[in-house]
Amino acid sequence: MVSLKDDIQYLKGVGPVKARSFKGKGIEKVKDLLFYLPFRYEDREFIKPISRLELNTFSLVKGKILASMVSTTYRKKIKLFEMIVSDEAGILKVYFFNMPYLKNVLKEGETVYLYGKVVKDNYSKGYFSMQNPEFEIETKDDVSIHRGRIIPVYRRIGALNSKKIRELVFFVLKEVGEEVKEILPDSIIEKYSFPKRKDALKEIHFPVYKEKYPFSRSEFVESLNNFSTLFHKRMIYEEFFLFQIGLKFISRKYKRNKKGRSIVVDLKLKKYIGKILPFKLTEAQKRVMREIVEDLTSLQPMNRLLQGDVGSGKTIIALMSMLIVVKNGYQAVLMAPTEILAEQHFLNFKRILKDTKIKVSLLKSGLKNSEKKKVKEEIESGVIDILIGTHSVIEGDVCFKKLGLIVIDEQHRFGVIQRVKLYEKGITPDILVMTATPIPRTLALTLYGDLDISVIDQLPPNRMEVETFLFYPDQISRVYEQVLKELKKGNKGFFVFPIIEESEKMSLKSALEGYKTIKGIFSNYKVGLLHGRMKTGEKEKTMREFERGEIDILVSTTVVEVGIDVKDATFIVIEHAERFGLSQLHQLRGRVGRGGKKGKCFLIAYSQKSEDTLRRLNVFVSTNDGFKIAEEDLKLRGPGELGGIKQWGGGGFKFANILRDRKILERASTDAEFYIKNNLLSKEVFKKVKDFFDEEFKFINWG
Ligand code: ADP
Ligand code: MG
Repeated sequence: MVSLKDDIQYLKGVGPVKARSFKGKGIEKVKDLLFYLPFRYEDREFIKPISRLELNTFSLVKGKILASMVSTTYRKKIKLFEMIVSDEAGILKVYFFNMPYLKNVLKEGETVYLYGKVVKDNYSKGYFSMQNPEFEIETKDDVSIHRGRIIPVYRRIGALNSKKIRELVFFVLKEVGEEVKEILPDSIIEKYSFPKRKDALKEIHFPVYKEKYPFSRSEFVESLNNFSTLFHKRMIYEEFFLFQIGLKFISRKYKRNKKGRSIVVDLKLKKYIGKILPFKLTEAQKRVMREIVEDLTSLQPMNRLLQGDVGSGKTIIALMSMLIVVKNGYQAVLMAPTEILAEQHFLNFKRILKDTKIKVSLLKSGLKNSEKKKVKEEIESGVIDILIGTHSVIEGDVCFKKLGLIVIDEQHRFGVIQRVKLYEKGITPDILVMTATPIPRTLALTLYGDLDISVIDQLPPNRMEVETFLFYPDQISRVYEQVLKELKKGNKGFFVFPIIEESEKMSLKSALEGYKTIKGIFSNYKVGLLHGRMKTGEKEKTMREFERGEIDILVSTTVVEVGIDVKDATFIVIEHAERFGLSQLHQLRGRVGRGGKKGKCFLIAYSQKSEDTLRRLNVFVSTNDGFKIAEEDLKLRGPGELGGIKQWGGGGFKFANILRDRKILERASTDAEFYIKNNLLSKEVFKKVKDFFDEEFKFINWG
């Protein structure tokens, strides 16, 4: 007897060794196997006569093994097992690489089923062939789950290939599939005409096309492969719904949590800050500041997302917020995505705060152990008011005396889970997340839970749009001319390369190679080099030389991408622009033209072939609007581009993809809100929400 709750080890055909591989993939219990999804489906309903095979299609054939042999390939000395299979009307050549033992498995005279891609290649000499096809030997009691139907294909786990996993899943569904319990409220199932949970799981693993469907069989297979059948949608919805219920529950719990801090912003403090400010705030910055002050002075912890295009002036908002907290007797932390940026914030803040008694410190990896220890002690004793660093400042063993505010600059790694972790530790800081990436509201809600959004929708005065030009490699001398013009005016700028060093695999220009070339061409000017593999100290030194104007041209990798603020840089040349996402290019372009002088951006694109690339780059050339650019990115390059969203900090969804399934997420979120507000969730359903959450997020205290 099997039970869904059994340890996977005890499932027939698994055992301790395979169980270890399973557990490595998070499959601990028998039930978890049902949530290991096929990533692809193949229609193996029909056996295709060999004579009617089509090149480059996947097909199922059945035939007799006429001959077979093992040989060694000339070039790479690989063991090759080949056989000739015939279904009387046609001949198929079949190759297996590195599997000589198959000689004893697939014997001459046997009848086999083969499924694979039909090709003609060097080996097959004009015949159709298959390489490493999935195979099955015909047996007497000929029932099989591997053909005559739509087949699920699974990613291999350790020694278990797709076929083995298919057999295990089939067995589990057959034995205990009926035990899978419903989780969603009946009213939801009715509302969307969803299939029952157990039926959805069954169909997702072993889909059956039904005549009554209003679409064709091949359309059905296509929607299976897109994860867009009603069975998939139901499971996607379920994940979102449970997740949203849990999130909303937690948010409510902590909404009621007071932060136990009284922050006051009076006239005196306003004057104090006003004196420190190096410039007049824009209207948008003022509005955002008012929103933040309201949060800081309220009794509930702030959870605010600040969106503002590249160069819109988010840093000063961070500084002012931190000053408010510090002048009220608390500590503040600023987390940056890179050490270079942390260093820059540190120097910037020190400069602005040089006439105050406020103590700013930088915690970075380059510090000696004794120095690190000292910083940590000073944080614990409260000597340090403002701490700056990468995300390591909040993880690990750093203890604050009185932490009041965390500001997160340009990174999404700090999501709702991280926040709840702090809360559970009894720390309720105000949290401000700053980003230039325009995240759709629903996504932001999923990432950060119940949060408020502020937007800086205005650039500081005297900011001119960066002019952007697209060039091809054979026009590079024209780019050099333009750069020379800028240099002659006394300006400085960047050359950005996609990689540090050349590699055999990719024929890309590298920063090291570019550094040599550019030094040769602009021999009258000082050229510097900056990349991620340099030591922290060297990076800092180079950055400072560039800022002070001791370096005219900084050759670098994308380490300068985010946040770097060198006021009087005017030009940026981006090699292999086709390799970058538009949002990334926009960040890079945002490094120039920050100090009232016009900025110029030169893209050099190496693949002129792809129309799509050209179109993308032309969109980029034609607009400076970060929101438009992000949208274009989403359209053309897909979700990956909204960098960082994948690391939103949850255990991860099994069915759902927050970008692909945005619409379902929206519905589930609205429904969840409605069900919580109106108390429509039965105790039973709510218990299931907790179970679901506890599996992913064990630290949550539901009390
Ligand atoms: P981002 O939003 O990309 O982080 P920054 O905070 O780095 O932008 O600001 C970009 C540049 O604009 C900085 O050099 C900053 O000093 C300057 N800046 C910000 N706000 C103003 C303002 N209100 N007036 C003038 N310059 C400003
Ligand atoms: Mg910034």
